[in-house]
Amino acid sequence: MSALPETHTAVVWHGPRDVRVEQVATPRLQHADDAIVKVQLAGLCGSDLHVFRGDEDVDERHTCGHELIGIVVALGDSFVPDASESRPALYRTLKVGDGVVCPFTVSCGECEFCRLGQTQRCIHSILLGQPILPGAQAQYIRIPHAGGSLFALPPNLSQELPAPALLLLADILPTGLFVATQALSHAKIAPVLTGTAWPPKLDGYFDSEVDAQAAIRTEDRALQLAVVGLGPVGLCATFALLDILSHLSVPYKLLAVDPNPVRRRKLESMLAVVSSSPSSPTSLGEIFLSDHMDARGIVKGWGRGGCHAVLEVVGNNSALTTAMGLLAPAGVLSSCGVHQAPQVPFTGRELYNANVTLEFGRCPVRALFPAALRLLRKRADVLAQVGGTGLVERVVPLENAPEAYEKFDKGASVSAERRMNHNVQSTYALSIGGI
Ligand SMILES: [Zn+2]
Ligand SMILES: [Zn+2]
Repeated sequence: MSALPETHTAVVWHGPRDVRVEQVATPRLQHADDAIVKVQLAGLCGSDLHVFRGDEDVDERHTCGHELIGIVVALGDSFVPDASESRPALYRTLKVGDGVVCPFTVSCGECEFCRLGQTQRCIHSILLGQPILPGAQAQYIRIPHAGGSLFALPPNLSQELPAPALLLLADILPTGLFVATQALSHAKIAPVLTGTAWPPKLDGYFDSEVDAQAAIRTEDRALQLAVVGLGPVGLCATFALLDILSHLSVPYKLLAVDPNPVRRRKLESMLAVVSSSPSSPTSLGEIFLSDHMDARGIVKGWGRGGCHAVLEVVGNNSALTTAMGLLAPAGVLSSCGVHQAPQVPFTGRELYNANVTLEFGRCPVRALFPAALRLLRKRADVLAQVGGTGLVERVVPLENAPEAYEKFDKGASVSAERRMNHNVQSTYALSIGGI
């Protein structure tokens, strides 16, 4: 620890629309499970704007930021080669100098929720960038329960992928993968994928009693899907969905919905890159794009009353209303947006009458790191692009964070004038550790 400076540079939130770059005390190891990470890049994503604008329930001064990649510079006493086998492997293997990515919430890797893969609901969960846990937009950050929270990046990965693209692993890409997985893994979707009618087998419990009155037909085994919201997470969700669908080998129709034509064009150009790639599998699907006004007419035209599943990747009631309007009976609405409205825009009776399932919530980022990294490598042609039409729009020095917040907020506000938007066009990276 002696090598760490007494103070370091951090982006500090002082109040609504007041972030400052200043010197604050460098974090120190406080617990044997802690790691200190020297931040190389920190994200500035749509969620940071909620804090910036004062929309979150926070009024104390604190270091901002919840997305980071960096290098381990100090480890607590728990990190030893002979740490118990019952603990997460990083307690035995992580070393000073290793490159890491951290989920935006702490997850211990040891409690029941972590063991079950619901790492977002770890009993020790803390969102990075709170008064109780200074955030990632700083030169150094303390990560509690680091052996469970951190994910060690393979050596030489930065030669394969640009560093700002790795930042997508901290939040945006796993969240897109999560909202897609949550839909396609649902028991209501299983009959289309497996050819066996509901109920699910439950380890043989229903084996001899599945009693569909008529056999599932070939035409029943095709999925109708929609993604509502084509911000950065929506784009990641779309490519995650397409990647899983290529693995499942079922025909599908997918409608990508956003009122903003710039976002739709961005997806269009990304899809063109993918379809011209020799590594892309032959697609069994058809992809459509529309604004929210035409979306319902398009999916109704597909038949069966709408979609098997709709991904809502915005986080407000107008997007939820659009998504609900696209669902067929017995559909799954998978939502990963951070909803601020006091109530959802439909009643229990409406859900009952359509047997619609709602899947809401935060992404278990830590549980999805390996799959998200695999997807990032596989679809680097669209997901790992930086600048211009890339998901990471620009990389700015930490010192320019206040202007970056202003500019990012203004860019988001332009879109927010449209009906369905709390999200933004892309994301920024704050360059901190010399990348
Ligand atoms: Zn984020
Ligand atoms: Zn846990």
